[in-house]
Amino acid sequence: MILTAKLGLLKWARRKSPWIIHFNTGGCNGCDIELLAALTPKYDVERFGILLKGSPRHADILAVTGPVTNQTKDRLLRVYEQMPEPKYVIAIGTCAVSGAPFWDCYNVIGGIDRLFPVDVYVPGCPPRPEAIIQGFAKLFKKMEEEEG
Ligand code: SF4
Repeated sequence: MILTAKLGLLKWARRKSPWIIHFNTGGCNGCDIELLAALTPKYDVERFGILLKGSPRHADILAVTGPVTNQTKDRLLRVYEQMPEPKYVIAIGTCAVSGAPFWDCYNVIGGIDRLFPVDVYVPGCPPRPEAIIQGFAKLFKKMEEEEG
């Protein structure tokens, strides 16, 4: 009973203060600028408790921009594996969603879900900060549903 309550409290705390790590696999930086805009006081995702962290070991959410490339796939996988469970992935921008517009480049593998599961897709080239915030809101809803 006490253990269940503690686990419930942990899950609630994680949803109320999710820490993210951002990884750019080699996109054009358009999506990165929009994600950074979402982190600034103008859009202020900190009001949802979202904090940008530098270490995957401290992060709950991996926010990826850009397509999976041969050059970055091993590093991206290593970052994902270093994150503690439960971990979530949000693919930001059309490149991260499907690899497009670089899908047929010689060194592009495709979208992020070619490497590991993605929880939320935010399409757009680049998506606006409002769309990124909506993506985080969808992820929070998913986390809440998992809490039961
Ligand atoms: S989705 Fe568009 S803006 Fe984002 S990294 Fe790809 S090309 Fe750049």
